[in-house]
Amino acid sequence: MRIPIATGGRMKDQPGYDVVVVGGGPAGSTAACLLGEAGHSVALLERQVYPRDKICGGCLSQKTIRFLDRALSLPVDLLQREGLLDFTGRGYALYIRDHRILAGDLDEPIYFTRREHYDAYLARKAGETGAELHTGAEVVAIDHARGIVTTSDGGRYSARVIVGADGVHSRVRRTLPEGIAERERWQGNLGWTLELVIPRKEVEALADERGVIRLDADLATPHLVFAVCRWGYGWVFPNKEAIVIGLGGLLSKNGSGFRDRFKAFLKLVGLSAFTDRKPAGCSLPLGNYIPTPAHARTVLVGDAAGFTGPLLGEGIFYAHRTAELAAHAIDRHLTTGAPVAGTYSTLLDRRLIPELRAETAFRNILYHGLDARMHAPLAAFVQAMKDPVIDAVQGARSFQGFQRDDELHSAVW
Ligand SMILES: Cc1cc2nc3c(=O)[nH]c(=O)nc-3n(C[C@H](O)[C@H](O)[C@H](O)COP(=O)(O)OP(=O)(O)OC[C@H]3O[C@@H](n4cnc5c(N)ncnc54)[C@H](O)[C@@H]3O)c2cc1C
Repeated sequence: MRIPIATGGRMKDQPGYDVVVVGGGPAGSTAACLLGEAGHSVALLERQVYPRDKICGGCLSQKTIRFLDRALSLPVDLLQREGLLDFTGRGYALYIRDHRILAGDLDEPIYFTRREHYDAYLARKAGETGAELHTGAEVVAIDHARGIVTTSDGGRYSARVIVGADGVHSRVRRTLPEGIAERERWQGNLGWTLELVIPRKEVEALADERGVIRLDADLATPHLVFAVCRWGYGWVFPNKEAIVIGLGGLLSKNGSGFRDRFKAFLKLVGLSAFTDRKPAGCSLPLGNYIPTPAHARTVLVGDAAGFTGPLLGEGIFYAHRTAELAAHAIDRHLTTGAPVAGTYSTLLDRRLIPELRAETAFRNILYHGLDARMHAPLAAFVQAMKDPVIDAVQGARSFQGFQRDDELHSAVW
């Protein structure tokens, strides 16, 4: 239902919407898509113009692949046909510094996407469900009590429900009452990342034969390297035309030395020729999820609420999944009047938070062990736990006791 709002001065007033979604990354587009499909009027407000890039490794685990198929009717062969899967592989290599602790082939492949294509495609898909897409103007103010969202070009959008899907620095979150995001917990588990995308041809020509970790000749194997920063890891991910090299860890544990650690990581993997290149930097939630990310008519999803896997910072799946849970709560609210904040929080409590808590506990064991330089016992532990841990990362098992558990994947509609 559309609710016209009063015109104010020279502002461009938009018709009222059931839902205004702020931010058009995977979380925002998923919410817009599902709510549009359910017949609600939706405005999706994205400050950039597609195709826009987002610093990201672009790794899609089986968790995400399964979600895309089930909830958005995007099976893997369609993703392939649409050109959204840039690279696919089963190989992997895992290191603690220069010591290779695991390597081999996964049962199920992992995929890599390019975010400029992925995000543009999902936003377009949301548009096809009837959601109105407004790009190129930033949301600058939110009046939560009246449900009015104002953009930098003077647009005013009234909404019965507001979805904050505007990423890790979320303006929507920062305009909610202080207690929603406990500041100390948020800061204590906030990560920092640096990432460099190097054309594959350059890597092939300049890879340093003396790199302590020798990347595979085809540059087709994702590498994860622990103990190159504290409470985080380095990665080398293959793309079709490029190699993505990154380093990410908790800010509170690493201080300001990230750039030097990144250079050291490049040297470790034989890419010292690229230490003069300036990597892109970006914050990343790493365990600072907000357990109750909702207040009155406003809900937060994805990075805006700190939802990523605390072990590896995998966030695309959690962006999609929290948006799905929020969309369900919003649909219930719009159709039955059930309180949106309460329904969303209950769904999170039941379907997501226990898993994130268990993953955090696993992460803490791993990183405390690395801090204590217990590399050999940790290597033995990871080798012994290889299959369940890989299954948990891929979403075939839960981190809670490494049992098979479909709570992460079950439909809510
Ligand atoms: C270096 C790095 C590597 C990563 N690698 C991976 C990986 O390999 N796999 C994985 O699963 N996850 C990865 N992640 C995490 C993943 O990128 C995020 O978790 C994911 O993008 C979250 O999606 P989102 O939709 O919540 O937020 P975003 O993708 O950040 O989208 C938010 C959107 O909101 C818009 N926006 C922000 N403010 C406003 C405003 N005021 N008004 C209007 N629009 C606004 C932004 O322009 C943006 O489009 C990585 C993150 C980093 C930093």
